[in-house]
Amino acid sequence: MRPYKINEYFVSVQGEGDSIGHPALFVRFSGCNLSCDFCDTDHENGCVHDSPHTFFESVATALLEEKLFEGMRCVFTGGEPLLQLDAAMVEEAVRRGFVPCIETNGHMLTEKKCAEKNLEEMLLMCKEVCVSPKSNNVSELILECATSMKVVYPHTLDLKPLVRKIGQKRSFPGMSRVLIFQPETPLYGLKGMDSKEYAEVCCAAINEAIARRKSFGEVWRVIPQAHVVMGVR
Ligand code: SF4
Repeated sequence: MRPYKINEYFVSVQGEGDSIGHPALFVRFSGCNLSCDFCDTDHENGCVHDSPHTFFESVATALLEEKLFEGMRCVFTGGEPLLQLDAAMVEEAVRRGFVPCIETNGHMLTEKKCAEKNLEEMLLMCKEVCVSPKSNNVSELILECATSMKVVYPHTLDLKPLVRKIGQKRSFPGMSRVLIFQPETPLYGLKGMDSKEYAEVCCAAINEAIARRKSFGEVWRVIPQAHVVMGVR
């Protein structure tokens, strides 16, 4: 067990991906291994928490009564959570009643590093593992343990090899996997979502979803960032 640097934690609604609409505790780890142009996340700063126990104690003191933990999603995000997240933290979330979920870019680890960190066991402990790749250079193991893939649109990825691997290590590979195009939210936020440009990006995503269904039988959903529409973070 080791200290964890956490940028912030807060309760909000899941505005993205397969769990859209669920209230959740978001735990944003500090630090990322990428620097995407469209990144709108402050992930550099943070406070150090000595152990999973002390972290969840501080959540219970500052934010959310312990009795409300039961059945609530705890979304480990970042930055890149897999730089720090470990089985001890996930196990503590489960012990306190949370449903653990992870949002990762999937890029940080070689297969050797994944094995060293015993990542497979930890990923399979989580109800949802959403991979949001920024290039095709994604860890195979992370894809195989994922339950969903979220692609920010427009994209330049070769999707077929990524789609093939999603969820292969889950008990019902293929059946539970969810594929999502997320139109890139305009930099000027909600107002920009009313723009012609944004509508064009959404239409392009819808057209690609239909085309991929026809050509490859892939079922893609197009989901915008609902928390931006709601005006919450
Ligand atoms: S992977 Fe996510 S957190 Fe990291 S730079 Fe890209 S958008 Fe930001």
